[in-house]
Amino acid sequence: MGYHVPILGYHRVGPFKGDHVPTVSPDAFGRQLAFLARHRYRVLTLEEVVQRLEQRAPFPRRSVAMTFDDGYEETCTVAWPLLKRFGFPATVFVTPTEVGLPGFATWDQLIQLASDGFAIGSHTMHHSYLPLVPEDRLLEELLQSKRVIEERTGQAVRFLSYPVGGFTSQTQAIVKRAGYLAACTTNRALAGGAIDRYALRRVKVTERDANPVCFFAKVSGYYDLFRRLKEPS
Ligand SMILES: [Zn+2]
Repeated sequence: MGYHVPILGYHRVGPFKGDHVPTVSPDAFGRQLAFLARHRYRVLTLEEVVQRLEQRAPFPRRSVAMTFDDGYEETCTVAWPLLKRFGFPATVFVTPTEVGLPGFATWDQLIQLASDGFAIGSHTMHHSYLPLVPEDRLLEELLQSKRVIEERTGQAVRFLSYPVGGFTSQTQAIVKRAGYLAACTTNRALAGGAIDRYALRRVKVTERDANPVCFFAKVSGYYDLFRRLKEPS
């Protein structure tokens, strides 16, 4: 079992709202960032991750990348200032039809994030579970979402995050054709073997990972091994 650069997957970082959204409190998030800084982790952009994969360049031990799904407003009001304080880059995946809705970031906030060097990626047009989307609507989900975000932010959109990690080989082919550099899924989808940049696995970070031991396992790059020991299939 080899070393994989852990791509951390967050949803909301902020106060708990009692809904279904996986939430990490600001306090726990701050401790996670402090852990990375204290142990001299290199926080890479997704662009750097893909470059290294392309070049088959080894990843420095203790490197990690950070992503945020759904574009909750707290990504801008809570997570961003903390990330800035540590100088850590991140990619934020948004759904254009949800931008500006109550609880979600506005385009103005996303423009600020983009101008601050954060990457804004697509999370499809309607937050759709792609394996169930009819073929004739896939282009809208994947291509139009990319275009809308590019027009609004003035920044190229290079990354996609599959809602609920769902994709098929057909989806992947369209994602490639649409000009994405890579796409992120969840932890479940990839069953070992070669790394597919249109199915980059992520490690979901939760509130429990305020515990340094849990968090260490997830950012160690050997989390697969931990998972396998814990959850034999
Ligand atoms: Zn989502």
